[in-house]
Amino acid sequence: MIDPRSYLAEHRGAQLEELFNLLRIPSVSAVAAYRSDVRSAAEAFADLMRRSGIEQVGLHETSGHPVVYGEYLHSPTHPTVLVYGHYDVQPPEPLNLWHSPPFEPEVRDGKIFARGATDDKGQITMHLLVAGAMISLGILPVNLKFLVEGEEEVGSLHLADFIATHKDLLAADYVVISDSTMLRPGVPALCVGLRGLAGLELRLRTGAHDLHSGNFGGAVPNAAHALVELLSTLHDSEGRVAVDGFYDDVVDLTPAERRAFAALPLTDREFLDQAGAYSLYGEGGHTTLERVWTRPTLELNGIWSGFTGEGRKTVIPCEASAKITCRLVPYQDPAKVLAAVTNHLRSHCPDSAQLEILDPSGVPAFLAPPGHPALRAAEQALREAYGHEPDIIRMGGSIPVVTAFQELLGLPTLLMGFGLPDENLHAPDEHFSLENFSLGMLSLWRFWQLAA
Ligand SMILES: [Zn+2]
Repeated sequence: MIDPRSYLAEHRGAQLEELFNLLRIPSVSAVAAYRSDVRSAAEAFADLMRRSGIEQVGLHETSGHPVVYGEYLHSPTHPTVLVYGHYDVQPPEPLNLWHSPPFEPEVRDGKIFARGATDDKGQITMHLLVAGAMISLGILPVNLKFLVEGEEEVGSLHLADFIATHKDLLAADYVVISDSTMLRPGVPALCVGLRGLAGLELRLRTGAHDLHSGNFGGAVPNAAHALVELLSTLHDSEGRVAVDGFYDDVVDLTPAERRAFAALPLTDREFLDQAGAYSLYGEGGHTTLERVWTRPTLELNGIWSGFTGEGRKTVIPCEASAKITCRLVPYQDPAKVLAAVTNHLRSHCPDSAQLEILDPSGVPAFLAPPGHPALRAAEQALREAYGHEPDIIRMGGSIPVVTAFQELLGLPTLLMGFGLPDENLHAPDEHFSLENFSLGMLSLWRFWQLAA
């Protein structure tokens, strides 16, 4: 019987060498000058997959950077898991703020410093190393498919196309992604929910052209006034969205969920400090974490009208616009929310103005299916590896690939991230904790055993 803890510890040197080789390649997807480096990184990941015993390994061309795919399918009666990650990184600038060069990985204070260390080369490499170890020992009990893309940092421009045209290749029981963070050191985290998004732009017109406020002021409507009046109807005085039907499909948290969130260590003070906001705000009856993780919102992202230049211009604007987005929660249908917001805007629009709605679009929220066996297996694996009950968390944002897996492949995603919130991802001195590199691999090893 192999003890994974000692096996992984014995091979630590070789594991770090593999990771460092990948971290040395400046695969900056956003900058054209790095194009051949991005490809080299794809080839290096494919090479590591092949040497790990993963099969059908290859680069799949897209209109942008290639996708690396490989699989190991030898347990017909056990689940097939699609593991997603990305081999591209953010630009390293500003270089003068790094304490060691971004593409010359270095270990200091128990941390691996390099661009991509935590986001996401370190985390996806852990998956490949664990799969490789278990394959070489003949003990990998699940079927794995690896999808490692090179455009995550530029918005996964061609990934949805790739998924849509490779549905059979990517068919699986669920997806696992390690590209996110834990809440705090020493405590593993499992993210089970993400909010969705729905947005539109609105334009009000009150006449054919702008007017002189001396000649016409007081006798014609002002589009900016109409916009302010309309937008002020979107929330009530308790911070709730005042759109009819907006909360119809929102499911209340269970008492157990509320207790679990309340037990997490983030205080309002810390949250306020992170935000740099002057005060907290939000829907009454909910804590801060509940507000950002589990409640829907409607935000004005921008409003514009009339004259905003230097000095003074006595104009009555005939046009005024706003951009609105809503964060959605599980079970809300983006189309239904957009229809409710549109209805509200139409029925509250002042008679003096004509309303036009532009570019409505949205993506639903994500919730890992409660009670899914993979969730229970992941919780147990994390608990055993870290010796601590995992934080069950959600995130307030959206992850487009999670939506794509849900919409295009019908697959739920397990977000098992091993980064820490202060590891400077996208910033100078990006790093990844050696402890999480080790305990993360141990967790994945146990996870595959428990998930079989
Ligand atoms: Zn990432």
